[in-house]
This record gives sequence, structure tokens and C-alpha cells, in this order.
Amino acid sequence: MKEKAAGLAVVSNKTFEASTAVNLHHYDISSALQTTLEFNELIGIFCNKIQHTIPHNGVEYYNEEFDLAFKRGVMARHSCSYALKVEEQQLGELKLTRSNRFSKEELKMLESLLCCLIYPLRNATLFQQALKMAFTDPLTKANNRTAFNDTLLREIKRAHRGGQHLSLIFVDVDNFKSINDDYGHGCGDLALASLAAWLKDSVRGSDAVFRYGGEEFVILLGDTDIDGATLIAERIRADIESHTIAYGMDVLNLTASLGIATLKGSDSADSLIKRADAAMYEAKRQGRNRVEISY
Ligand code: GH3
Ligand code: MG
Ligand code: MG
Repeated sequence: MKEKAAGLAVVSNKTFEASTAVNLHHYDISSALQTTLEFNELIGIFCNKIQHTIPHNGVEYYNEEFDLAFKRGVMARHSCSYALKVEEQQLGELKLTRSNRFSKEELKMLESLLCCLIYPLRNATLFQQALKMAFTDPLTKANNRTAFNDTLLREIKRAHRGGQHLSLIFVDVDNFKSINDDYGHGCGDLALASLAAWLKDSVRGSDAVFRYGGEEFVILLGDTDIDGATLIAERIRADIESHTIAYGMDVLNLTASLGIATLKGSDSADSLIKRADAAMYEAKRQGRNRVEISY
């Protein structure tokens, strides 16, 4: 009887030791995951930390909301994937791969370890959402003026340093006030949101389109000279003219006037904007629905 009790004590002792080790391991992972709010870094840290416990050759992480697709290592035959979610908040999908099958025990362990990743991922999601909101215009979902100011300064520095071209297109809707007057503000809002979507479609990457204010948008084209920018601006002008907007029983068209300026060695952010703006006003003066260039 005494021996049995001693045996039991040993078993429970072992169990205790094992769970302490697991908890310490979890603690180590959790504290490492508190060091960043970047998705890629979080996934990288997590995978490094679990590599010893759950060996794997490759990892993939997808996050649709933030348009992220992160891959590391080599993809192999066997995989396990988890759609991560907490309190209705989607946190992306994580997939581990390797050449041999994951055992049931490993999967159980992985699920337990994933608990350490969930909340740091949620914090990163909330942080990235707030960051995105601070730089996005709520009506058109284009980048806002703050984002434009930041990006322009950064791109000008880069262009000056690397000797690359940088072009800016100013887009101002023609007679937009009459759309509000004739069809109402709701229709004007819809027209602006539609225009922003067309602009994003017509340039590489939606990062380049900014709402400058009211019915004015700017497009920033890295590594693009005046000829390239002129082609793009003309394509955008024709694109805007060819689209139609359906609003209730009404169907309406927009046109816009565009001004282009390409960065010169002497240009600051202010002077580049002023030159593109002046070219746009020249397009208005010349009769609207046209592209003018600042040389
Ligand atoms: P122009 O061809 O000379 O550019 O004429 P315009 O009517 O487009 O220019 P104007 O500056 O006279 O009018 C711009 C209008 O854009 C006036 C303003 O009420 C409207 N507007 C600005 N922001 C918004 C918005 O967010 N929603 C709506 N519906 N209208 C807006
Ligand atoms: Mg205007
Ligand atoms: Mg206008």
C-alpha cells in the first residue's frame, strides 16, 4: 500500500514536471511575442520558438484583410493549417509543412502553443487596423492627405538619392459641384468613391493613389519619367470619361482635368505639388477633360 502510494507520487511528480516544462516553454514564447506588432516578425518568432518542439521545414501565413502572404523555408508534402480567430476577429491562416506526417501528439502540442500566438496576433491586428485608418480616407478608401505628405517626402528623398524619376499627377473632377447640385450629395459621394476605385485600377498598386482633398486626387509614380506619366495620365483621363455611374434611375458620366509634373533636381515637395497643380489649372483653362504637363 505504501509502495503504491509512493509510485503514484512519482507519477504525479513526473506529470507536474512535464507541465511545468510546457508552461515555461509557453512563457518563453509569450514573452518573445510581446516584442513586436508586425505580423511577419510575430510568425517568424513563433516558428523559431516551436521549431525544437514541432520540427517543420516551411511556414506560410496569409492575412486577407492586410493583403499579406508570408512564406518561409521550403514547402513539403505534409502540412497542418489553422485559421486563427479570436472573438469573431479573423487573424489569418497559418500553415506548417514538412516531409513527414505530423503526429496527433504534435498537433495537440501545436494547438496549445498557438494559444500564445493568438493574442499577440490580435494586438497586431488592432494596431495595424488603427494605422491603416489613420492613413485612409473613409469615403473613398484611398490613401489620405497625411499618407500623401509622408509618402511624397520619402519618395522624393529616394528619387534624389538614387537618381530615379518621380512623377506626380494631379486629378481634379470637372464641374463636380453640379453633380451635387443636380443629383444630391449622396450621388457626389458615390461618384468620388467610384473614381477612386477606377484610379486604383489604372495604376500599378493601389498605394499610389491619394485623395488630396474634396474632388482632387493625386497619383504618385515612382521610377516614371514625363513620357511614362503622360501615357498613364492620358489613359486615366480616357478611362474616367468612358465609365458611367448608375445612381437610382440616373446614369451619369464624369470627366477630369489632369496636371503632370516630374521631379527636377531643384524640386521640393511643395514646388513639385505646385507645378502639378498649376498644370491641372492650365488643363481647366484649356477647356477641361484634358492633360497638361509642367516642364
Ligand atoms: P472645376 O471643373 O473648376 O473643378 O469645377 P468644380 O465644380 O469641380 O469645382 P469646385 O471647387 O467649384 O467644386 C468642388 C465641389 O466638390 C464642391 C464641394 O461641395 C464638392 N465636394 C468636396 N468634397 C466632397 C465630398 O466629400 N462629397 C461630395 N458629395 N462633394 C464634395
Ligand atoms: Mg477642385
Ligand atoms: Mg473640380
